[in-house]
Order: sequence, then structure tokens, then C-alpha cells
Amino acid sequence: MKIRTKLTLGVGLLFILITLLTYVGAKSINALKNDTENILVANYNTLEYARNMLMALDDLSTDKGAIRKIEENLAKQQANITEIGEKEATEQLRKHLAQLKMNNFDNTIHLLIRKDIAEIMRLNMEAIQRKSDVAKQTAASSTIWIAITGTLCFVIAFTLLINLPSNIASPIKKLTESIKQIAANDYSQRVYFQDHSEYGELARSFNTMAEKLEEYNNSNLSQLLFEKKRIETLINNMHDPVIGLDENKKILFANDEALKVTGLKAEQLIGQQAQDVSVINDLMRSLIKDLIVPEKNNSDKKQPIKIFANSKESYFEKELIDIAIVPTGEKQKKHIGHVIVLKNITPFKELDFAKTNFIATISHELKTPISSIKMSTQLLEKQKTGTINEEQKQLIDSIKDDSQRLLKITSELLNLSQVETGNIQLNIQKSTPYQILKYAQEAVKVQAEQKQIQLLTDVEENLPDVKADTEKTAWVLINFLTNAIHYSPELSKITISIKQEEQLVSFSVTDQGKGIEKRYKDKIFDKYFQVPGSIKSGTGLGLAISKEFIEAQNGTIGVESEIGMGSSFFFKLGVG
Ligand code: ADP
Repeated sequence: MKIRTKLTLGVGLLFILITLLTYVGAKSINALKNDTENILVANYNTLEYARNMLMALDDLSTDKGAIRKIEENLAKQQANITEIGEKEATEQLRKHLAQLKMNNFDNTIHLLIRKDIAEIMRLNMEAIQRKSDVAKQTAASSTIWIAITGTLCFVIAFTLLINLPSNIASPIKKLTESIKQIAANDYSQRVYFQDHSEYGELARSFNTMAEKLEEYNNSNLSQLLFEKKRIETLINNMHDPVIGLDENKKILFANDEALKVTGLKAEQLIGQQAQDVSVINDLMRSLIKDLIVPEKNNSDKKQPIKIFANSKESYFEKELIDIAIVPTGEKQKKHIGHVIVLKNITPFKELDFAKTNFIATISHELKTPISSIKMSTQLLEKQKTGTINEEQKQLIDSIKDDSQRLLKITSELLNLSQVETGNIQLNIQKSTPYQILKYAQEAVKVQAEQKQIQLLTDVEENLPDVKADTEKTAWVLINFLTNAIHYSPELSKITISIKQEEQLVSFSVTDQGKGIEKRYKDKIFDKYFQVPGSIKSGTGLGLAISKEFIEAQNGTIGVESEIGMGSSFFFKLGVG
């Protein structure tokens, strides 16, 4: 039964009981009232009339209006006949009163009248006695009825009082218990209510919810485990070594490749602090170096890591990925660790070696024939082999220029191969800046003249010697000057400045060319880079080699330039 129906029935029953009790009580009171009213109206009044008539009879000799009084009361009595025999007695009284009126002093009639009145009184007195007994009986039966109804009401109300609250509250208690169990992650909880009340519906909904929660909990866990396994397998199947660290630099995972290259066992790596592992493992130390001391020099980062594993040398490029997530319900990103990925670049490195070797061999092999072409053209030019006409002279000039360019290119390529193999042969000694300047000026003199460019110098006197490889430093200065001539308009000016700056000597070449855009200032020192849109005559290697040469001598190199305002290339070397 529904709780609503139960409550309605309970309260309704109580209502009916109250009504019943009220009805029984009222009915009993009413019956008693009727009984007493009956006595009063029917009998008491008659006694009153009889008394009045007796008193008037006594005053008959003295009071003239006594007969009238008796007649009045007799009339009232005639209108109030209620008992058996009363009518006859009243009729007798009326007859005797008529006789009395005719013979006022007849004592016999007096006596008869008194007898009649006494008879009427007796009849009413008896009736009062009888009716009083009836009233007593009514009162007794009313008491019994009220007692029966009251007991019945009490029993029903008491049963309701005992049963109804527990009937409503106990399912709630049961449900509360089950909800508490579910809150404590026991999703196996179910509730069953026998009846078809609202609790039945609630229990069904609760059981569905518990079932879904259980299913969600189970599926969630197994799915998570499956996904974890999948990601682990995925990472393990990667050909690149991968190591994952949490925000406290504890190693969370390392794939098989990572174990191979570090030469460590899983238990020596996973779950350990990266700093602790780096104490016993050189590779690990270099891998987490940037995490402990943040990287200052960007160029170092690009340096590949050479690892000897599986009886061969391999090259890896380290990538440090910062892992950040936005936790559920939050807005801010939170750092949760790092992933170190080592990209295996061995095949590229091998190809690079092959290329460098090829370039070195080719440029070396080309240098001799080009030099002999250059010498031959010089002989022709000096007319050692016979006279030459103007046309031939022009052809010889063109061959000379081209062979000069070819020589420059081969020398750059040779230098590049030296730089790439790390075989720069430096001959560092005390060199005088004036000698380097002279050497460079001589080399570019003809080129400058061809474009009618003025080569100016702004050189301090008494400059100290520098610690440098004269030949390579001059090569850099020549490269600056060749570029300046190349990228400057005809009839412009190029200034070579040499100054002392504390413990350094600064060499700079300033031109009046078109300048270099800010965004390319660093890029022009990269290998093969040429500013887009500029005249592509060279290889894009000159400045890259210059940088390597100067940095190999612990110097610094750079450029200051504004677009349309010319450029000023400089390098600085320590005093010797
Ligand atoms: P390249 O052989 O192309 O001259 P470099 O390495 O010497 O190679 O120079 C790289 C690039 O820098 C050039 O291609 C050119 O675009 C730019 N560059 C070098 N020097 C100058 C200069 N003095 N003025 C303007 N641009 C220059």
C-alpha cells in the first residue's frame, strides 16, 4: 500500500473514531434530555395544576374567585393528559366540579373532587417514578455504549500509533544504511521492499543506480588498466628511448630502448630519483642536466649525444618535453613532469659523415686542377706563350674570375668539412692585427677596385698582439670584406676598423650596402643560409665557417645592421 494511502487511511480512521465517539456521546445526552423533559412537561406540570386546584378548593369558603382558579387549572390539565387513566380521572373531576358549582356547600362533592385530584396526582407520580427508571436505564446503556466505542477507538488509535511511524520510518532507515555503504564504495548494496508503496519504487530506482555505479566502477577500472597497458606497450614498442619523470624528478617509466642505451635494469631506473641514478650513470647525468641546471646556451642543446650501445656507436638528439595538464575542475595548467625522448639520428649522422667525406675529397681533388687553370691563365695573360688580342684577353679574364670563384668555393667546402669533422687545425700564436689587416686588404684590393669601392681604415695605433691563427683570422676578415664588396653598390665606401676594447681587440667591416633585416641577423651565421631575395652568388657557407673559426679561437662574432643603413660585421679576439 502507498504511504500516502496509509497516512490518509490512518488519519481518516482517527477522524471517523472521533466522529463516532461524538455521535454516541451526543445521542446518549440527547436521550437523557428527552427523558427528563418528558417528566417535566408531562407530569410535573400536572402536579402543579393539581396543587393549585387543591389550594383553591381550600379557599372556596373565603375566596370568591376560587372556582374560577380551579376551572383554569382544570382546563390546563385537560390539555396535558399524558398517562393512561388520566383522561377518565380528569373527566370525573370536571363532572364533580360542575356539581360543585351548583351546590357549593356539599361536602360530599368536595371530597369527591379531592379524590379526583388525588387520583390524577397518583397517576402522574407513578409515571414520574416509571420515567425516572427509564432515564436511569438510558444513562446506563449510554455509559456502556460510550465505554465500548471509547475502548474500540483506543485500541485502533493505539495500533496506529505503534505501527504507522515504524511502517514509514523503517524503510528510510534501511535505505540510509545502503546509501552509506555505497558512499563507502561498496557498490554491491541492494534494497528490497515487499510492499508496493512509494518505497518499492524508490528501492527499484536505488538498485538501478547502485547497479550502474557498480558497472561504471568496474568498467572504469578495467578500462583504465587496459589503457595503461596499451600506453605502456606503445611506449615500449617505440624505437626511440623514452624516459618519463614526475614533477619531483622521480622516474615513472622507461622503455626497453631507454634501458638498452643506459645499460641499466628496470629496477635500477623505474621508481628511482633521477638525481640518484645520474650519480651512477653518465648518460642519465647528461640527460637530466637541463632539468637540474636550466640550459643557458641554446647551441649546446642541439649537440647530438654519442652513445656506445649494442657494440656500435649511435647518435641521439635529446628532446625534453615539459608535461602540463589542466586538472579536472580547474582552469590553471599544472606541471606534472617531463618526458625525455632520445631521437635516434644515427642514420642521418652516417649520411652526414659520408657527405662531409665526399665534399672533402671532391674539394681537395678539385683544388689542384683549378690552381693549375689559374696559373695557366696567368701565363697566358702575361703573354709568355705569345701575343693575345683584346677578345682573347677578355676570355682569359673571365676564366680567371671563374677559377678564382671556384677556388673560393673549394676552399670554403674544405674548411666546412674540417669544421664538420671537428678537425679544425688551429695554429694559435701571437699575431699582430696590422699583419692580418694587410693580408686581407691585399686579397680584396682588386675586387674593390673593380667596383670602384673605397677601402677606408680606422685603425688604432699601438694595438696589442692577439692570440689567433693569423691565416684563419685573415680568412674571416677577407670573407667579411668580400661580402661587403659584393653586397655594396659601386662607388661606395667600406671601412675596416680595428680597436682595443679592454682585453679584446675588435675587428669590424662596415659597408653602405642594403643592410640585413633584424630577423635574419642570427640566421646568416647558419650553414647554407642566404637572405631571401639577395643575389645568390656564393654558397651560404662563408659566415658559418667564420663563426666556427672565431669561436674555435674563443672569440665572438656578430653583426649590427639596419635595413637600408648598411651592415657592420665584427669579431673580437683576446689580446695575446
Ligand atoms: P654567401 O656565400 O652567400 O655570401 P655568407 O655566409 O658569406 O654566404 O653570407 C650569408 C648571407 O648573408 C648572404 O647570402 C647574404 O644574404 C648575407 N650577407 C652577408 N654579408 C652581407 C653584407 N655585407 N650585406 C648584406 N648582406 C650580407
